[in-house]
Amino acid sequence: MSRTVSISTTGASRSAGPRPGTCVGPRLRWTASARPPRPPAASRPPEAEIRRAAVTVVTVASVALGVTAGGWAWTADRRADDAALRAAAEERVAAAALAVDADRSAAAAGAGVLGAAGAASVRTGSRAALDAAVTQAGGTLTSSAERVDDDAVRQALGVVLGAADAEAATASAVRLRALAAEVAAAERAVVDAVAARDAAQAAAQAAAEREAAAAARPRATAPRAPAAPAPADRSCATTYAGPAFYTSPPTEGGDGSNGRLPASALAAVSWTRDSRGTPFYLRADAAAALERLNAAFRAALGHDLALDLTYRDLDTQVAMRAALGSVAAVPGTSSHGTGLAIDVPELPCTYGWDSAARAWLVAHGPTYGWVSPAWARQGGSNPEYWHYEYRG
Ligand SMILES: [Zn+2]
Repeated sequence: MSRTVSISTTGASRSAGPRPGTCVGPRLRWTASARPPRPPAASRPPEAEIRRAAVTVVTVASVALGVTAGGWAWTADRRADDAALRAAAEERVAAAALAVDADRSAAAAGAGVLGAAGAASVRTGSRAALDAAVTQAGGTLTSSAERVDDDAVRQALGVVLGAADAEAATASAVRLRALAAEVAAAERAVVDAVAARDAAQAAAQAAAEREAAAAARPRATAPRAPAAPAPADRSCATTYAGPAFYTSPPTEGGDGSNGRLPASALAAVSWTRDSRGTPFYLRADAAAALERLNAAFRAALGHDLALDLTYRDLDTQVAMRAALGSVAAVPGTSSHGTGLAIDVPELPCTYGWDSAARAWLVAHGPTYGWVSPAWARQGGSNPEYWHYEYRG
């Protein structure tokens, strides 16, 4: 277009320009004024051609240089990225190698082949890790009191903490780390148990609130429940849903530990036996106290105290734990294994929270050394209205 303008404005060649009367428009005029007219190609001097060629060469060279420079910059960026990635990878490899070395050192420390100074350093680190785990778990053990459904998880944590305490001074680095892991795992179980109980309590409270809200609704809008059993029938049914169980006879050759009480340590109560005919055994002093309690109970309530369970041996506790899971105490920790606990039947109308029998037992049991433990009470960590223990 500029060539056409230059021709038309100079008038050197009409054949290439617009015909007379043809409107070339303001844009052409603007272009013509912005750029000085050039002579036709045929009349250009050689210098102009040389300059043009030089400009072309310079332009091409500049473009080539520009591309090269750009490429170089891009390549440089990529090289920097690659270097950063490589450095990061090398760091990771070095960290992994250090970790492997640390493990190897710990293992060597355990095997006694590491240098004394190195072994001491590894052991110091492991001991610090164990101490930190023990401190934290100790806090959890304290704060979780009465806050778990099954105290067995807390007892287990106590056992692990005891082992850590006993071994910390002399254990190898490897053993210290293993202890720290055991403490952390046992603590985690307690934390989980507390969370589970909190969740269950929240759900129960929400259900109670829903029930209260439903009860507060006007009768006309309350839904009918034609097939529901009468409340009295429902509330008096046994609350026990596990497998049948029986009390245990004395353990032959028992060493006196939990669930291994010999006949010499036990005495049977006089007024009742279980459904298989096994007498209800308790530690002799607890049995004697329960005899006195039952005499008073019968005088007040008009019938003997019924029993479901007294002494339970270790083998039976193992079986019940297998059948019931965490509802049953960890074998070796049950108060029934000591001969100092009784369960009355799980009959809510007879022995439940609001029954006359329970009211009497809670009020007068302590006179005979028999109590409802705090954890077994309503609002306790594991409410069991049927469970009582002898505290002397
Ligand atoms: Zn019990």
